[in-house]
Amino acid sequence: MSRISQSSRFCAVCGAKEGPFLENLCENCFKKENPLEIEVQKKISVEICPLCRSIRVQGPVVDTWKEEGLEAIIREMVERKILENISADVAYSYEFEDDIEETKIMNYGVKTFELITTIRAKPYEEFSEFKQSFLTRIKLIRTSCDLCSKHKAGYFEAILQVRGEKRKLTEIEQENTENIVNRIMERYIDAKMSYIMDLETDNDGLTCKVSTKYLAETLAREIKNATAGKLSVAYKLKTKTRDGVDVYTNTYLVRLPEYSLEDILEFENKMWVVKQVTDAQMKIESLDNHEQRKFDRKRIENRGKQLTESVVQREYLFVSSDGKGAVIMALDNYENIDDNLERLPQNKQVGENILGFIYEDKNYYIK
Ligand SMILES: [Zn+2]
Ligand SMILES: [Zn+2]
Repeated sequence: MSRISQSSRFCAVCGAKEGPFLENLCENCFKKENPLEIEVQKKISVEICPLCRSIRVQGPVVDTWKEEGLEAIIREMVERKILENISADVAYSYEFEDDIEETKIMNYGVKTFELITTIRAKPYEEFSEFKQSFLTRIKLIRTSCDLCSKHKAGYFEAILQVRGEKRKLTEIEQENTENIVNRIMERYIDAKMSYIMDLETDNDGLTCKVSTKYLAETLAREIKNATAGKLSVAYKLKTKTRDGVDVYTNTYLVRLPEYSLEDILEFENKMWVVKQVTDAQMKIESLDNHEQRKFDRKRIENRGKQLTESVVQREYLFVSSDGKGAVIMALDNYENIDDNLERLPQNKQVGENILGFIYEDKNYYIK
C-alpha cells in the first residue's frame, strides 16, 4: 500500500480518521512501522569470584566489601554497562526493572537474571511519547578472579625475615614479632592480595612468604620500629610458585639489635643490664650502683661484651643490712655474702628475694 498524500485525512494502513497523521499514518500505525532506533545489549555476563566476591562486568574487576549487598552492586554495574552501550539518535529517558535477588546470587542453581530497560522518547512533535522495552539476560558466572587464582597457585612477591644480630631470638621476642605480624594482618583481612604463607617462628627468627612487596614492607617497617631493628631489602631473588611459575622476590630482613632488654654485658670494665634500646642509643643500668645511663648504641655494640649466655643465674635472700653493708644469702648453697648495700637493687627490703647471677666468682644482683 502506498502513501497517498501529505494532506490525507485518514490513515493509509488502518483507515483511522482521527489525526494527527504523519507520512499518512495515524500515531499507532506510525509507531508500529517506525520503532525507535535504539539498541540495548541483549546479554551481559557478570563474573563473580566466590572467594573474594569481586565482580567483573565486561571490564575491570570491582572489589566489594562484606557489608555491601551484592544485589545492589551488580544492579548498578549492569545498568551502567547497559547505558554505556545504548546507541540512540534521539533524546530518551529510561527505567530499569530486574529480578536480581541477593539470596540467589551465590546460589549454584540460579545462573541468570533478567533486566528490562524501558526507554521513553518523543522524537515527533505531532505524536505522544514512544515507549519501548528491551530485555537483557544477565548471566552470572562464578569464577576465581585473577588475584585469587594467583593466591591459590601460591603466588608471592616477597619474603619477610626477622633475625637477631649475632644472636638467637628470645622467646619473648619470638612472641612479640609474631604478634606484630598477626595484628597487621588483621587490618588486611578483607583486602585483596594481602596474605602471608608458611609463617615459621623459632629462636633463629621469623620467616614467611608475603603476597606483595608493599605488604612485606609494611610488616617489616612495623617490626623494625617496634624493636629498634635494622631493615634491609635484598632485591630479585628468583623463586617458583607452587605451580612452577618463576617470580622475582624481594627479601625484607629485619635484624633485631645485638642487645635486647635485660641482657647482661660488660662495658668499660663494668657489668650492666640493658634497660632500653632505640635506633641510636642504649640505656643501661650499672650493677655496681643501679644507676642508669645512656650511651651511643654503636659504641656499646662495638666495645661491649655480651654476657647473657655466659653468666649463671642465681637467687638470693636479702638477710640484713646496717645501712652501708648488706648480708645476702645464696639460695642454692646457703652461703652468706657480705656486700655493699648500693650493689643491691633499689628499694629492696630485708627478707625479700633477689634475682641475679654469678660471673667470674662475683655475685651481681639485678632485681
Ligand atoms: Zn493507522
Ligand atoms: Zn577473588
